[in-house]
Amino acid sequence: MTDVTLVTGDGIGPEIAEATRRCIDATGAEINWLIKEAGTDVMERTGTPLPDETVEAIKKTGIALKAPITTPVGTGFRSINVHLRQTLDLYACLRPCKSYEGVRSRYTDIDLVVVRENTEDCYAGVEFQRGKDDTDELISWVNKHSEKKVRENSGITIKPISVEGSERIVQFAFDHARKLGRKKVTSVHKANIMKFTDGLWLEVSREVAKKNSDIEFEDRIVDNMCMQLIQKPELYDVLVLPNLYGDIISDLCAGLVGGLGVAPGGNIGEKGAVFEATHGSAPKYKGQNKVNPAALILSGVMMLRHMGKMAEADKLENAVAAVIAEGKSVTYDMKPHRDDPTAVGTSQMADAIIEKIKN
Ligand code: NAD
Repeated sequence: MTDVTLVTGDGIGPEIAEATRRCIDATGAEINWLIKEAGTDVMERTGTPLPDETVEAIKKTGIALKAPITTPVGTGFRSINVHLRQTLDLYACLRPCKSYEGVRSRYTDIDLVVVRENTEDCYAGVEFQRGKDDTDELISWVNKHSEKKVRENSGITIKPISVEGSERIVQFAFDHARKLGRKKVTSVHKANIMKFTDGLWLEVSREVAKKNSDIEFEDRIVDNMCMQLIQKPELYDVLVLPNLYGDIISDLCAGLVGGLGVAPGGNIGEKGAVFEATHGSAPKYKGQNKVNPAALILSGVMMLRHMGKMAEADKLENAVAAVIAEGKSVTYDMKPHRDDPTAVGTSQMADAIIEKIKN
């Protein structure tokens, strides 16, 4: 048995977590679940949205499946997701985007993986607010040392891109491509404009590519990448991107395959890995046994592959794909009309998936 932490989250979290746990168990993956809480429900009882016990469990097991968690607006605490990412140094955000028959989308046959750097770039949190003394001091310093001038009364976000940060994520993309038998890695940047940050990213990408010559490598400028993904998505395989472009392109690719219902994800680092759906806690549907568990179940498929349980992962993915393709035992969002009376609930969709796994 392998220990895995299951963070049940809040809103629709507990329902989809339970559905996912049942589906994974049905594959025979032999997982010993450490079931832990995080989010608004546990906060009401204990005063903290992320109990130490939950973080400790994730650190101990090194692997977690996490249901969505609400980030309350204006309460002062930062997003739990960001906190976990930083505490565990989960530097790689992995988002496979794959077409499943039966999911309504403008495209078919999409099979892409987006690998996003999670710790640097404009999202590093190094920001200077307009009008503050430190900001004015920074602007004076820049204006003294740079030919280009920054206007007074500007706000500033710093974009750090390091050799170390770039190297490890590009190497991660190659390792992931190799592990899953993929053929090509495309590094995305805007090196023609931002020479010292994206330029460095591109230079490091090329160096890492030389050491991984068994896999094809190319680069694309990010604006061109957007157009290419819309026009010729079939030309691409694994994309590796700095944080900001990665955030945007992940959503673009999720859109290519039909959106949130089937968008799984994982945040991975040396110390651990946390797998979660792209969608949030949809609080308005809490406790109604209504929402689609597929994105979290597909995150479970990614988790099983990460753990080397390839046969179990294939079994689970094929079962999800078969249920979606049949279109019978699926939740309201996968029906042609949202008020379709034949839609089933979260737990009934899980039952249908388990039925497929068994047969
Ligand atoms: P959301 O993804 O929770 O919901 C948006 C809408 O998408 C829902 O109202 C619903 O119509 C639909 N939807 C989402 N998941 C669905 C599912 N599984 N099946 C069927 N329909 C589904 O986005 P939001 O409303 O912007 O965010 C709600 C809360 O979730 C916020 O507090 C946000 O911060 C948080 N959030 C958490 C995570 C995470 O934990 N990783 C990710 C995104 C958002």
